[in-house]
Amino acid sequence: MSYVIEGQTGQWEIVVGLEVHAQVVSHSKLFSGASTTFGGDPNTQVSLVDAAFPGMLPVINHACVAQAIRTGLGLNAQINLTSRFDRKNYFYADLPQGYQISQFEHPIVGTGTITIELANGETRSIGITRLHLEQDAGKLLHDQDPTKSFVDLNRAGVALMEIVSEPDIRAPEEAGAYLRKLRQILRYLGTCDGNMEEGSMRADVNVSVRKAGEPFRTRCEIKNVNSIRFVMQAIEAEAARQVEIWENGGTVDQETRLFDHTKGETRTMRSKEDAHDYRYFPDPDLLPLVLEQSWVDSLHAALPELPDAKRARFQQEYGITFYDAGVLVAEQAVADYYETVARGRDGKLAVSWVTGDLFAALNRTSTTIETSPVSAASLGKMLDLIADSTINGKIAKEVFEDMVETGEDPEASWNARACGR
Ligand code: ADP
Ligand code: MG
Repeated sequence: MSYVIEGQTGQWEIVVGLEVHAQVVSHSKLFSGASTTFGGDPNTQVSLVDAAFPGMLPVINHACVAQAIRTGLGLNAQINLTSRFDRKNYFYADLPQGYQISQFEHPIVGTGTITIELANGETRSIGITRLHLEQDAGKLLHDQDPTKSFVDLNRAGVALMEIVSEPDIRAPEEAGAYLRKLRQILRYLGTCDGNMEEGSMRADVNVSVRKAGEPFRTRCEIKNVNSIRFVMQAIEAEAARQVEIWENGGTVDQETRLFDHTKGETRTMRSKEDAHDYRYFPDPDLLPLVLEQSWVDSLHAALPELPDAKRARFQQEYGITFYDAGVLVAEQAVADYYETVARGRDGKLAVSWVTGDLFAALNRTSTTIETSPVSAASLGKMLDLIADSTINGKIAKEVFEDMVETGEDPEASWNARACGR
């Protein structure tokens, strides 16, 4: 797969690295006991620590640390047994402390990899540079009063994982595949719900362009893109903008930009000159985070089967194609449903019923795999009726439609049909 931009001076390659902020699934915040539930009334989930009252001290939440370790393990990454929290200083009304507690020099997770699949069936490995833990900020509300702004601190202090990729991505499609794969792994692990609309996963997109074989050129960073489609569109727009600058004899300035999806273009947010100086230093209120190898090992041993492993096993155990196995493992609930249907039966027949007739029925009845009118057990029984020649393939289609409508077992549908219902 190669993606190139045809310029007047020849072909250009794009170079992309992604920084993803993923909200950690946990009951309470990274350094306080306040709740993390989404959608609460403003400022009902704020402890004195989150509001940065004088004298309040942060206390690390072990559940969040475990989630970061589990995520690192799921990304085949190095777990650093010693890491450290630093203060990233900046002043903004949604940040009562005047600094964010983050990990700068010593992140909890080091290098790892994610394998992505492209539409043409190729796979590629994208490097992970690091994963670190940090606090989220609050949210300013500008639409409640004509003259005043308000602040909601429910989100302040919620744990985020920042997952940074190497500049290994070479096409908008690869960026899309990377984000889908990352989200899938996080969901399997249960460490982030991956819900981009609610903001629990958002991406900063670093883009540069170069001629093949050249060293990297200057990049721009597009902040806070909140859907996979917009990430892909932003890369395309930004790469085209940069190619035009270089070809007209200009130079691309390193800057932070925003993507305007209604106009399909990026625009300057701040240039390098007004880049923040965060004056990082180790947070004196927190000890270095030192992990026991035995704890990491036990978290490792308890990880669920992840998508790549499940896909390979499905191919092997049920004799299905790489493509079909990929469709089934895309969501864990679908994979579980399929296994219930396929176990001890014809795996290929099971895949065609699940991804064909069942998916069509879910679509038609606006249901999901979790609320499916036909349970996996009933679909399995129906395959048994086909296998023992009680019904043939054509009748099975009719029996299945009855099952969708009535939610009954195949025998009930078949008997009703046999009796001429
Ligand atoms: P910073 O700390 O300023 O954000 P990093 O070196 O940590 O800078 O890089 C941040 C992101 O930018 C990473 O995802 C990295 O892969 C990506 N990146 C670095 N150089 C380039 C480049 N020349 N083109 C595109 N992306 C890049
Ligand atoms: Mg950055």
